[in-house]
Amino acid sequence: MSERVIPLIDQRIASLAAPSHVQPIAATGLLGDTLGRPLRDLRISVTDRCNFRCSYCMPKEVFDKDYQYLPHQSLLSFEEITRTARLFVAHGVQKIRLTGGEPLLRKNIEVLIEQLAQLRTVDGQPLDITLTTNGSLLRRKAQALKDAGLQRVTVSLDGLDDATFRTMNDVDFPVADVLDGIAAARETGLRNIKVNMVVKRGTNEQEILPMARHFQGSGVTLRFIEYMDVGATNGWRMHEVMPSEQVVRHIHAQMPLVQLEPSAPGETAERWGYAGANGLHDPSLGEIGVISSVTQAFCGDCNRARLSTEGKLYLCLFASQGYDLRALIRGGADDQALSSAIAHIWQGRSDRYSELRSAMDPDQSAPAGARRVEMSYIGG
Ligand code: SF4
Repeated sequence: MSERVIPLIDQRIASLAAPSHVQPIAATGLLGDTLGRPLRDLRISVTDRCNFRCSYCMPKEVFDKDYQYLPHQSLLSFEEITRTARLFVAHGVQKIRLTGGEPLLRKNIEVLIEQLAQLRTVDGQPLDITLTTNGSLLRRKAQALKDAGLQRVTVSLDGLDDATFRTMNDVDFPVADVLDGIAAARETGLRNIKVNMVVKRGTNEQEILPMARHFQGSGVTLRFIEYMDVGATNGWRMHEVMPSEQVVRHIHAQMPLVQLEPSAPGETAERWGYAGANGLHDPSLGEIGVISSVTQAFCGDCNRARLSTEGKLYLCLFASQGYDLRALIRGGADDQALSSAIAHIWQGRSDRYSELRSAMDPDQSAPAGARRVEMSYIGG
């Protein structure tokens, strides 16, 4: 493998000032951006730390033993996160996904989940609270997460073969323990459990069928994610992307699939159900999903905002800079000022990186000077 030279610029420092002293904007739950996309989904990164070193997210060469993680006092506290989330919910957010790094590494995360579970959407419904984890701590934490109000969970698992899994996550963690974490989540009654597999051509595509067979009929939905050019450290190359269309064809050849309707607007995954003998979807066999940010961009109804672990608001997974909400939070801004700042930022949003990438030479996708924020910092 060729030596990868990665210039180390701490992207976390760069930020945009959140607008203060702006025209108040009432929270109506109907906030739209410049492309008419509503604000519905908030992803909150609760830590920049992880116990894995997935090559597509936190390559070991960069996130090595000398890597400086954020000091604890710079992280938003649970109270600050909950207050900010409450204001996002008033603007229309219905779903909160907790991410990281590895969110279960954040101490007492169930306390935060309890606080978030008290919030109600603009029409008085409970929030849809979920979490993305590498599963390494799930056996230990599942019951406490469920009791605190977590409803569902997504587990990242890039293969069943230990050697392949190790190649993808660069740590010595057995697949069996992640599968045991998934079993624990099921035992506690967490519903709608999903497993995400990043497919990197030349590394783990041979795991696609074993994974599909393992989870077929298990009640767990397996999703295949196209390897993405997130951040600036994973050395992404287009030839290592296996387009979802090929993944679907590969599975269909052995395990017939039928396309299903999206289950919600803005859903990132395209759904494919396993067909029964009659050629129709057999729900008892379950379904798979494919997430195709590289070959089939879905920016048109992207309703996701991302809050970094130290309170920066990012409007796209591939953004270069975020708005520093923490400065307002710790600067004494009242709810109206903070809420209006969030509204002004979303109203000005025009991000659609994946769509634009499709029109570019993929291996030259980053405009000169723009350095994308790391996925481990704002969550997937
Ligand atoms: S590239 Fe950005 S705008 Fe497009 S779907 Fe992803 S996060 Fe949304």
